[in-house]
Amino acid sequence: MAKHTQLFIDGAMVPAGGAHDLPVTDSFTEETFATYRTASALDVDTAVAAARRAFQGWAATPPPVRIAAVRRIAAALRDQAEALADAISREVGMPRKLAARIQVGAPIAAWDMYADLATDFGWESRIGHSLVQQVPSGIVACITPWNYPLHQITGKVAPALLAGCTVVLKPSELAPTSAFLLADAVRQAGLPSGVFNLVHGNGAEVGEALVRHPDVDMVSFTGSTRAGRHIAAVAGGDIKRMALELGGKSASLVLPGADLAAAVKATLAGCMLNSGQTCSATTRLLVPRASLEAAEGIAQALLAGYRMGDPSDGATRLGPLISKAQQQKVQGLIDGAIAAGARRVGVAADLPAHGFFVPPTVLAGVTPDMAVAQEEVFGPVLVLLAYDGLEDGIALANGTDYGLAGAVWGPPTPHTLAAARRLRAGQVDINGAPFNPAAPFGGFKKSGIGRENGRFGIEEFLEPVSIQLPA
Ligand code: NAD
Repeated sequence: MAKHTQLFIDGAMVPAGGAHDLPVTDSFTEETFATYRTASALDVDTAVAAARRAFQGWAATPPPVRIAAVRRIAAALRDQAEALADAISREVGMPRKLAARIQVGAPIAAWDMYADLATDFGWESRIGHSLVQQVPSGIVACITPWNYPLHQITGKVAPALLAGCTVVLKPSELAPTSAFLLADAVRQAGLPSGVFNLVHGNGAEVGEALVRHPDVDMVSFTGSTRAGRHIAAVAGGDIKRMALELGGKSASLVLPGADLAAAVKATLAGCMLNSGQTCSATTRLLVPRASLEAAEGIAQALLAGYRMGDPSDGATRLGPLISKAQQQKVQGLIDGAIAAGARRVGVAADLPAHGFFVPPTVLAGVTPDMAVAQEEVFGPVLVLLAYDGLEDGIALANGTDYGLAGAVWGPPTPHTLAAARRLRAGQVDINGAPFNPAAPFGGFKKSGIGRENGRFGIEEFLEPVSIQLPA
């Protein structure tokens, strides 16, 4: 078992001064395969101080130099792609083959995409007699979740570094390996000391210490709405800049005349990806009442294809959840929905002998007010809901506290696009159009504040400053 006792601060690996060794669990074998020593309060201070010392120099570094550094990080990560896929698959439970593509290949490509976007970004422009400069926000605390660990880290650290900010990263304590390997990539890339710093630890101690730190200018947080609300209150008390990427309860709205089979298949796939542990998962399938029975039949036939098993087995489609606690929470929401009158479509598949599994689940007989139709489940659970007429369908789609993503299915007419425009969600796909990493991503309502991805992601870490020039 690998015992990690170091943090990356001021350009070097240094011993962590915290009191605990946090275990990292293989979600299939249920065994601890690594531990990470937590940072002490002093370590957090030291990391922030290093980021502060490095800030002026890095902010003044010409963009082409910062861009070249980011490309070197991408190259060093690429050399570690196998180790990253192994670790993330064990931590999170995503099938290894899929993890290599989605959890590793895509984020590494995103480092290069951000570098490309920064190349012709337009750091300065003129408005009349004003010179408008894009200036880095300062010292950024990046706090990330476990579900797509490298992807979430990339969506913050790459654009922040390109913008000229310096960073202290605190990754999820449940999936810290990507951050550990990133620190090594930063070291190999030869960034100036203090530009990127890594501290390990849990949210309540180490995360909170970063958010409260008076010398942190901005908090970029991705995680639950529960933690986000608390972080927003703390950071808001200090008027810190903040970007919050929080939970979701995304709808897939099937309009009359849509290809129902394609809609059900893709919605179920979007819901089951990463065993439902995806913030933008399409977890509510909304169909015209007349199509409800047909949709249920299609979903039932597809469920058998979600074979649970060992994530390292190429035939596995559905891995375990991240932890025992998550498994119990998700099973509890399913049981609660059934007690409240919902019905499981088909029968629950047998669980493997070990691993934090929940069987792929589709629930019918659900009403919009049930917890399972309103709360983020973060497990492999799709709810079927019927609607009566377009207005009802749009109201149902928008009828939760969240507004992160959504999907619309319909004939290729302006009517379908018009329906998509009415969803109060940051990213909406029509008829299964694929994810676009250059397009903005983020939430309305309790799904968050701000946008990541593409040039919007870089703008998050910049402040416009205007200098009025004399005639
Ligand atoms: P979480 O909120 O429990 O933890 C996220 C991170 O915040 C972790 O690093 C944790 O240690 C830290 N944290 C927790 N409490 C803190 C505090 N008081 N102060 C500072 N840091 C604190 O979330 P999670 O369980 O790791 O991730 C799952 C959640 O993340 C889901 O709700 C999911 O929807 C959301 N998510 C959102 C997006 C998005 O882009 N909107 C993407 C991925 C995940």
